[in-house]
Amino acid sequence: MPAPEEFVVTPYEVKGKIDYDRLRELFGTQGLTPELLARLHRLAGGELPPLLTRGIYYSHRDLGPLLDAYENGRPFFVYSGRGPSGPLHTSHLIQFDICAWFHRRLGVPMYIQITDDEKFWARSGLTREETARWGLENLYDILALGFDPKRTHVFFDSRSIAAMYPLAIRVARKITFSNVKAVFGFEGSTNIGLVFYTALQSVPAFWPSWAEGRAVPCLIPCGIDQDPHFRLTRDIAEGLGYPKPALLHSKMVMGLLGEGVMSTTGNRADDALFLNDPPKVVERKIRAAFTGGRATVEEQRRLGATPEVCSVWTLWRTRFAPAEAEFEEITRTCRSGELLCGDCKARLIERVHGFYAQHAEAREKVKDWAESTIVTVAPKPL
Ligand code: SF4
Repeated sequence: MPAPEEFVVTPYEVKGKIDYDRLRELFGTQGLTPELLARLHRLAGGELPPLLTRGIYYSHRDLGPLLDAYENGRPFFVYSGRGPSGPLHTSHLIQFDICAWFHRRLGVPMYIQITDDEKFWARSGLTREETARWGLENLYDILALGFDPKRTHVFFDSRSIAAMYPLAIRVARKITFSNVKAVFGFEGSTNIGLVFYTALQSVPAFWPSWAEGRAVPCLIPCGIDQDPHFRLTRDIAEGLGYPKPALLHSKMVMGLLGEGVMSTTGNRADDALFLNDPPKVVERKIRAAFTGGRATVEEQRRLGATPEVCSVWTLWRTRFAPAEAEFEEITRTCRSGELLCGDCKARLIERVHGFYAQHAEAREKVKDWAESTIVTVAPKPL
């Protein structure tokens, strides 16, 4: 009898030490090979982001056929979403940074879904006003990462429902309660809003095909834990006459507290750097962050530290050291003991402050046009 897995990864539960290769086997996804990366590198004109070169995105479904279509003159679009329950933190940006990269480098449109309805149904402590307010705040943060207003389309669920509903009706008929129960763990006590919401979350993946009356390929970057959800979207696609969306999966990153996968629920606000944290709070959180350092300076100088288990290194790796030379220098000097954790943290604090200042400026500018990206009209009558 095979040994039971030591980890659990579903759209609603992640626990244990994840073996990502094993997880890929269990889910039946494909690895992001050097050949595919080389192809992306060529298509993007000789540039790949650290999220791809450093193995944060590592798995996919049907990326090859998506790129075949692109090269044959059938561009795809990128789709991602956010459930607005509070401020974004820097790890949320992993998903939107890669979207922005495809959007900029391959010139493809971006579709964003803001699921203010779903968060209201899922979190009993949140009011409708709060999920709607966080929806707009989160949208400003996402757009500030560098999306072009002319090629960016937003489904803000409670405000875009008229545009989505004709398609949602057809999607909903293809999904049974057994399907969603298996994927999301719904029970008899689950409110029916959440059950219907699964149809709404598939709508953006098909909407451009519906609107344009032709097959428009879709790419969805997401955490690997969300794969079962989008498998459902893929399963119903062809029955509706639309292409199956391709998926690009990231690993889940550790939080500042260093206890496995980041989680900010409950009293764990110190596990992440929120984009609305004031500078003093950013500094306090980074100073207290879990590292791969040694107990004393003398030991660290002598034996070196372990970057792979360090939450500070994770921040350098995913966002704050985009230049390869700098990232290699941090990793090498950490391992050799030349770099001490206090100095490394001080350098990161400066870097994060710089990013927050630049982001705040970009965020103010998008407020002028954010509303214009919200889709409110269905392309066709019922
Ligand atoms: S030197 Fe930096 S990267 Fe290395 S363990 Fe310490 S904090 Fe982490």
